[in-house]
Amino acid sequence: MNKEEMIKKLKVRVTPIGNGTAIDHINPGMGLKIVEVLGMDEKNGAAIALNTESKRMKEKRKDLILMEDRFLTENELNKIKLLARNATVNTIKNYKIEKKEKLDLPKKAEGILKCINPICITNHEELKTKFSIKKEPVKAKCFYCETSMDKEEIKKHIL
Ligand SMILES: [Zn+2]
Repeated sequence: MNKEEMIKKLKVRVTPIGNGTAIDHINPGMGLKIVEVLGMDEKNGAAIALNTESKRMKEKRKDLILMEDRFLTENELNKIKLLARNATVNTIKNYKIEKKEKLDLPKKAEGILKCINPICITNHEELKTKFSIKKEPVKAKCFYCETSMDKEEIKKHIL
């Protein structure tokens, strides 16, 4: 399925979900990337609203993802933190928000990013990648080869 088809299928009317996860306040354009990283499609009850109006004062537009009967693993949550640092993750059970977590950039990223340096040891041996993350500007620095990756490179190299 190509990207356009995927958007069409996922872009259904956003209805409240009884059980599952809502990822809100995603910067416009990042929603689709998150869908890709999580490996979701319409079959497992995912819905995505791209570029919708936001009620928050500062942001005019946002992406929103709803996932029926699906909860994020720690690993998935860590990946989303790298992609959507200001997003809010709502865990919904029985039509109630059980947990609301406002995301922030993590200080470390382990096993969720691939190093861009082709000669880095992590690209040749069975090693869990390790990066330290810096803000303003966003950078990920490899623990093994000290190569730095910027925001765009991080986005493209999520495992
Ligand atoms: Zn490296």
